[in-house]
Order: sequence, then structure tokens, then C-alpha cells
Amino acid sequence: MNYSLLDRGDQVSRELAETFEQLAKERGLVRDDERPDVVLSIGGDGTMLHAFHRYRERLDRIAFVGIHTGHLGFYADWKPNEVSELVRLMADGGGLKDRVVKYPLLKIEIVSDAGSESYLALNEFTLKGADATLVAQLNINDMPFETFRGDGICISTPSGSTAYNKSLNGALLHPSLEALQIAEIASINNRVYRTLGSSLVLPKHHHCDIFPVKKQKLLITVDHLAIPYESVVSVRGSVSEQKVTFARYRPFPFWNRVREAFIQDGGQP
Ligand code: NAP
Repeated sequence: MNYSLLDRGDQVSRELAETFEQLAKERGLVRDDERPDVVLSIGGDGTMLHAFHRYRERLDRIAFVGIHTGHLGFYADWKPNEVSELVRLMADGGGLKDRVVKYPLLKIEIVSDAGSESYLALNEFTLKGADATLVAQLNINDMPFETFRGDGICISTPSGSTAYNKSLNGALLHPSLEALQIAEIASINNRVYRTLGSSLVLPKHHHCDIFPVKKQKLLITVDHLAIPYESVVSVRGSVSEQKVTFARYRPFPFWNRVREAFIQDGGQP
């Protein structure tokens, strides 16, 4: 099995990466940054976002695994002291076939004066006004839904629902649901502009379109990437046909991760 590795760059993550490489070598695992079967991310969920985008073109041939060197992560769910166990399981043979989970991704298609571009997000996409509030028409399945005015709009994946979306009071979605979630970022509501106020969850066969009403500078984010746009004509969000694969050498249910990350022992009676 070939693997590649990304670390967050801090001392703890770098040292753990060295330990992993040493143990992997002893077990006969081969590092191959071009054509890895497994990509290991050492750091936090942010590190996994970097790993995902680095290998975005090879998603159908890669499984990701994350070790966290800070607090528990949603994508990084192995602890540093479990590294030798992880190497053992990776080297064990038997392949990954029955030991993976696949999570839905968000597809974003942007039409601007400069042409068309398409992005894939693991966590979310956001659209914000760069130097003024965003004013945009939101359509769902080609029907006008509302006119939004405010800081911006966030569209997240189920696995990204625990990230920015959660800060916007969006719901947490189990990543087995093939859906996307639209959440408002500080909408202005008055007699002229009225938005729903709640986040919306769309199934896989639905899509949404955002049409900025005025020509304005916009900031688009796709996970950790920020891309300025001079003039956007439309943005379409839908659930991608592609999925991301995570190696699951042992079960770690999503709701356990939610409880441990956000409630800890406070959730116990
Ligand atoms: P960052 O500021 O370093 O990361 C923000 C925080 O989001 C980190 O604590 C990160 O965890 C956590 N995170 C990332 N993905 C997550 C997930 N799926 N579930 C739960 N927490 C998650 O920025 P970054 O490293 O460039 O990451 C970009 C991400 O930051 C975006 O995708 C967005 O979700 C998030 N963000 C959140 C807000 C907000 O909540 N107000 C605002 C902007 C961006 P780790 O510490 O484990 O890396």
C-alpha cells in the first residue's frame, strides 16, 4: 500500500509525521506523494481540508485518514498515541474495500464575466460581499425563493455541517445523508428584504442558484480557500456525483464525535 502524508507544520505534528514514516517503513509501507492509496493528515480538520484539495483530482482512488494533534477533529479522529496501531492496521493487508466510508461533497458552478468555473467543497462554500453587503436572489430548483441582503450565504456539506454552518445555527447532518444545507450569514430583515431565517436542507436531486443583484466585488470561499471575484453572474450549488472516501479501520460513530467535540461529559445524565 502506498501512502502520502501532510502535517500541519507545527512541531508536534512534524514529529508525529516522522514517527509515522519510521513505523511505516518498518512495516513495508511505501511513501508515494504522486499516486498514494491512503493520504494521512496529521494536525486538525483544517489539515484534512488541505489534504483533500491537494488530492482533489484523485478522489476516486484515495482514502483519507486523520490523526489529530490538538483537540478531537471530525476528519482527524486518531489520537497521536494510536499511531503504531494505525500503521499496523494499514500494513495488515486485506485492502481497504470493506473499511471505508464515503461522504457527500458539494459542487459549486460559478459563472462570472471572466467565464465559468467549478469547485468541489469538503466543508462548505460561502459567498460574501467584499466591501458591501451582499444582495442576491436565491432560487431553488429554478424557482425564485427569496432576495437575500446581508453578510453572505453559506452552503455546506453534511460533514461540513459541524464547521462554519454550526456557527450560523445550521443543523448538524449525518454524513450518510446526500444533501446540502443553505445557511444565512447575518441577513438583514425588514419590510423590503425578507428571508426565511432558518437554514434549508436540500436533497441530492435539488439545486439552488444565487444571482447577485448588483455588480459588486465578492469574496468566495471554498473550505479554507478564499477567491475574490469582480463580478459574479450566478452560482449553482448541488450535491456532487463525486464522494470523498475515508479509511475506517475502526468504527467511530459520527454522533459520538459530535458529543465528544461539543458536549463531552456534559451530555451524560
Ligand atoms: P481555521 O480558522 O484554522 O479553522 C476554523 C476551525 O474550524 C478550526 O477549529 C477547525 O478545526 C474547524 N473545522 C474545520 N472543519 C471542521 C469540521 N468539518 N467540523 C468541525 N470543525 C471543523 O481555518 P482553516 O483551517 O482554514 O479551515 C477553514 C474552515 O474554517 C472552513 O471550512 C470553515 O468551516 C471554518 N470557518 C469557520 C468559521 C466560523 O465558525 N465562524 C468562520 C470561517 C471559517 P481544527 O482546529 O481541527 O483544524
